[in-house]
Amino acid sequence: MTSTNVLKKINFSAGPAILPASVLQQASEAVADLDGSGLSILEISHRSDAFDSVLIETEALVRELMQVGDEYGVLFLSGGASTQFFYTAMNLLNPDETAGFLDTGAWSAKAIKETKLFGKVNVIASSKDTNYDHIPTGYTVPEGLKYVHVTSNNTIFGTQFKEWPETTAPLVADMSSDIFSRPVPLKKFGIIYAGAQKNLGPAGVTLVIVRKDLLGTVKRDLPSMLDYRVHIAGGSTFNTPPVYPIYVMLLTLRWIKEQGGVPAMERHNERKAKLLYDEIDRNPKFRGTVANAFSRSLMNVTFVCTDEADTPRFLEAAEAAGCDAITGHRSVGGFRASIYNSMPYEGVETLVNVMREF
Ligand SMILES: *Cc1c(COP(=O)(O)O)cnc(C)c1O
Repeated sequence: MTSTNVLKKINFSAGPAILPASVLQQASEAVADLDGSGLSILEISHRSDAFDSVLIETEALVRELMQVGDEYGVLFLSGGASTQFFYTAMNLLNPDETAGFLDTGAWSAKAIKETKLFGKVNVIASSKDTNYDHIPTGYTVPEGLKYVHVTSNNTIFGTQFKEWPETTAPLVADMSSDIFSRPVPLKKFGIIYAGAQKNLGPAGVTLVIVRKDLLGTVKRDLPSMLDYRVHIAGGSTFNTPPVYPIYVMLLTLRWIKEQGGVPAMERHNERKAKLLYDEIDRNPKFRGTVANAFSRSLMNVTFVCTDEADTPRFLEAAEAAGCDAITGHRSVGGFRASIYNSMPYEGVETLVNVMREF
């Protein structure tokens, strides 16, 4: 899974993040001229035939790659994952109903805060006491919850769910930083949402997959723009959708399909993550920040220098080798290498070589 890259840096940014070189090339060509139409993708109407076929193909690829059936709506909305924190609650939760939460990081905590505006929250398990350094296990999900919310991958803390909570309630998942990185058992999920800028495209569009039969059960009146049913009925063109980000998402989904689909992505991601974690575990100069192997993310690899005094020097060495944006989030410190789908194996090899020689 290599890609020729005209750019000189290897982009380890947590988001907005790396995209395949071929996607960047095609995206820039479409700005100049969309498929020989004589028009730029930036200036076509969202009601044009050209954009209509973009939307149709993008939705079809989401459905094909994640095996999404007709019982789900597939939406391309704006407002980011942060808007979905309250949108999900507004559409699913009555004031006297309870949503369960697995509190596994800063993004979960924000989702909890917003959900409390609309209904009750039960935090089933949390890893907050240890600075979110693991995915909780051994908890029991109580009965009677309207849904259970999980953040499948914790972008900041470098942890990821490998097993889903055992519950008969539908899961609502923030998959912003690991969507399309591995197969998921879709039947368990009522809603999946993901801001595009980690694993799917540029900032500006949020993919939402929502089970239609869960909608219409809240008593409150919803503004049209904040009602999933309105967007389902309007095929994501109730208002002007983010045309260009959706187009780049389409290019990225085509690329995923060409690479062999989501199972191929998972193999590619496992291989890259193993290379990096093996070096962190082998090299006495480094230490992972996640408490156990089970919780480690395949997408965001967090680590520190064993001797803190080495930190600036390692950063310099990595940057000299072209590794960009590996500084960790301020709440964890050290380093974070984000190695999303689009990160080639060679990119991780470059970073690991810097670690070996350090
Ligand atoms: C980046 C991120 C968000 C925030 O996304 P916005 O699009 O900026 O609202 C939420 N959840 C997770 C898991 C993220 O990685």
